[in-house]
Amino acid sequence: MDGKKQSMNDRPLIALTSCPVCGSDDIQKVLEVVDYFSSGELFPLFDCLRCGFRFTNCFPSEKTIGKYYDSPGYIAHSDTHRGLVNKLYHAARKVMVKRKVRLVTTAIQGVVGGLNVTNKVSEPNRPGSAGGRANILNETVRLLDMGCGTGYFLHAAKKRGFTVSGIEKEQGAREHAITKFGLDVQGEEDFWNIKRESYHVVTLWHVLEHLEKLNESIEKIKEVLTDEGVVVIAVPNHLSYDAHFYKEHWAAYDIPRHLWHFTPVTLERLLARHGLVVTGRHAMPFDPLYISLLSEKYAKSNLLVRYARPLLVGLKSLIRSCRNVEHGSSIVFIVQKSSKSSGKTP
Ligand SMILES: [Zn+2]
Repeated sequence: MDGKKQSMNDRPLIALTSCPVCGSDDIQKVLEVVDYFSSGELFPLFDCLRCGFRFTNCFPSEKTIGKYYDSPGYIAHSDTHRGLVNKLYHAARKVMVKRKVRLVTTAIQGVVGGLNVTNKVSEPNRPGSAGGRANILNETVRLLDMGCGTGYFLHAAKKRGFTVSGIEKEQGAREHAITKFGLDVQGEEDFWNIKRESYHVVTLWHVLEHLEKLNESIEKIKEVLTDEGVVVIAVPNHLSYDAHFYKEHWAAYDIPRHLWHFTPVTLERLLARHGLVVTGRHAMPFDPLYISLLSEKYAKSNLLVRYARPLLVGLKSLIRSCRNVEHGSSIVFIVQKSSKSSGKTP
């Protein structure tokens, strides 16, 4: 990535001078967004005038961004709202975890005819137990979840029969996944040591937009994926109706934690650079409502508006995404190696 480190207001920042997707230096600031979640600091969003890619600029380096994941007490005045949003989030997560596992199962079945995933797991997966496992022609389906957090998705995928591993850089979340679910979860540094073609499925649920080493990470993901494997990538879409409505208050900009802001076109362009191709798209149904609720909070709307308007904006965004998935607030992309690049490197 073409960037240089500089210091501004005692913050070690990474300032990009060219587009991470196409390399053009024809970039322009289009919006300034406040970090409502954590620091209250202002960060600029830039667009590449050649390829249209949008990105956060002058963002904290990997070494210093950790503190931006902590939310201080200054937003505690809105605890009631926060409680509602959190309750919705947890209820939606339960449904979404099931949907994600179903989606991944369908995606891998779609490319591998010999896949056999049973609908119910009669007993826990144990070494030597074939019961309930997902198999490709008698080979266990291996799944890697990047940024697996506390492990809820991996736990569900494991119950479905996948052999699962996770990468999570946050130590607390990693320990939760290991102790609560008994999962195999490694730190970020271990990702770079994974051997070629180790996984049939790699999932990134709202993770790609956080990765500082954008191009390097995609290249590595392609490397660890089998030739017939699938990558499943969920990212926010700033061409959605809710993004258009809330503008700089749109919660899914989530700067500086989100470095990259995708649209279907810019994500496909980025993936194509790495010999990957999008073969399917799905909208995530709860995201527009959740993001709209958070955006109203960030916009400091009055209480009535804060709860009523997200229903309208979220619903409108959802309806648009049903008509055309490219308008989804968040989109799940099913990605494979393109036929040109699917041959094994000698
Ligand atoms: Zn560009």
